[in-house]
Amino acid sequence: MRFDVVVIGGGLAGMVCAIGLAEQGKRCAVVSSGQSALYFSSGSLDLLAQLPDGTPVDAPLAALPELVRQAPRHPYSLIGAERVAPLSDQAAQLLQRCGLNLQGSNERNHLRITPLGTRRATWLSPQAIGELPWESVAVIGIEGFLDFQPQLAADSLMQALGVRTEVNWLHLPALDRLRNNPSEFRAVNIARVLDLPENRMPMADELRRLAGDAEAIFLPACLGLEEDAPLLALQAAVGKPVRLLPTLPPSVLGMRLHQALRRRLQQLGGVFMPGDSVLRADIDAGRVTGLYTRNHGDIPLQAQQVVLASGSFFSNGLAADFDGVREPVFGLDVDSQADRADWSRSDLFAPQPYLQFGVRTDGRLRALRHGEALTNLYAIGAVTGGYDPLRQGCGAGVSLIGALHVAQQIAAEEERP
Ligand SMILES: Cc1cc2nc3c(=O)[nH]c(=O)nc-3n(C[C@H](O)[C@H](O)[C@H](O)COP(=O)(O)OP(=O)(O)OC[C@H]3O[C@@H](n4cnc5c(N)ncnc54)[C@H](O)[C@@H]3O)c2cc1C
Repeated sequence: MRFDVVVIGGGLAGMVCAIGLAEQGKRCAVVSSGQSALYFSSGSLDLLAQLPDGTPVDAPLAALPELVRQAPRHPYSLIGAERVAPLSDQAAQLLQRCGLNLQGSNERNHLRITPLGTRRATWLSPQAIGELPWESVAVIGIEGFLDFQPQLAADSLMQALGVRTEVNWLHLPALDRLRNNPSEFRAVNIARVLDLPENRMPMADELRRLAGDAEAIFLPACLGLEEDAPLLALQAAVGKPVRLLPTLPPSVLGMRLHQALRRRLQQLGGVFMPGDSVLRADIDAGRVTGLYTRNHGDIPLQAQQVVLASGSFFSNGLAADFDGVREPVFGLDVDSQADRADWSRSDLFAPQPYLQFGVRTDGRLRALRHGEALTNLYAIGAVTGGYDPLRQGCGAGVSLIGALHVAQQIAAEEERP
């Protein structure tokens, strides 16, 4: 099977790279073994929230020169600080073309509310999340749903922001059947019920009653599996602003991102191969010449260019054993620490060194193997090293900006005679 480009990994980085290429007429396939980090994410996309020395960042673009100084191996430094602004603009436009209505600016972070009621700086958020311009809110949980604790969120909102909060529980008979099976009573299944138009008015009536005179309502993100429409319709029916707070995984807001990316890729003629894994590759004279997957056995996938977007340890893009950290498909060079004792810190809240481990690349994001760049293999997103997505609040930004940086280079490369 021949493609212009094969992308390994269907997370944020891989999907956006494939969409960027497909929009330029490339025939792309995405092979993806399992669920990506999006299924576990808040649904907000971070660009840069903190410098490596711990300084908080309000204005991500303005902070880039200092980031480059402090972290020369950070993907933004490798790509070039001056490229981050245009690439982040293009990423936001691409997400819009996928039908995603995200809000925020790369000039200035906004603060999203976390499930614990605290605030975290981020770049782009779904309309449903938003900031907190109200003095009183009703935080309403769903009876029997354990992946969101309204009391916890309300207490933090009250203590940290001085917002008057009221806590209540929504009981809807439409959810009774699901509730009887606690292992099924999860955000995604609840959203499938609450998104049904026939449940909107009973829910709106109940929310209006529970919210009393609060100015706005906060609900766990169990609504709008495919789009914002159910939330907007509910809001209109209640007559008050309704906002969603992320829940424990699986994340409805993250899944919605994935579905939108997948739809766009397939509309553009891209091939998505879920549930398949790239196991090994043929490499000849510094080029990847074939990829072997679990489902295709001995028949190799062939492509002029290959993009590795297989994620970090969480997604098995990196593997750790007693001898060290390795990249399992190509055996690429990985930045890590030789002594296992240096991989992590016992203080859970300290920066964890292993989060910065990842595949080494050159400035074009071509992956290095035995110190040399493979000429047609790029590495993007969480599989690459040199940054801490949690601490620095830059996970999605690194994925999106790397994805488009690579897509543009591949397109330019092929235009050259
Ligand atoms: C739990 C969690 C929550 C996060 N939340 C946020 C957040 O709210 N906001 C934010 O900005 N960032 C967040 N991040 C950071 C996150 O790493 C990035 O935002 C980004 O989503 C990473 O995307 P990715 O495509 O590089 O990797 P991933 O999302 O990890 O995707 C990699 C994909 O590759 C597949 N794969 C792996 N190996 C193979 C193979 N051999 N063959 C085929 N497929 C393969 C995996 O199954 C997976 O689908 C979070 C990270 C984690 C782990």
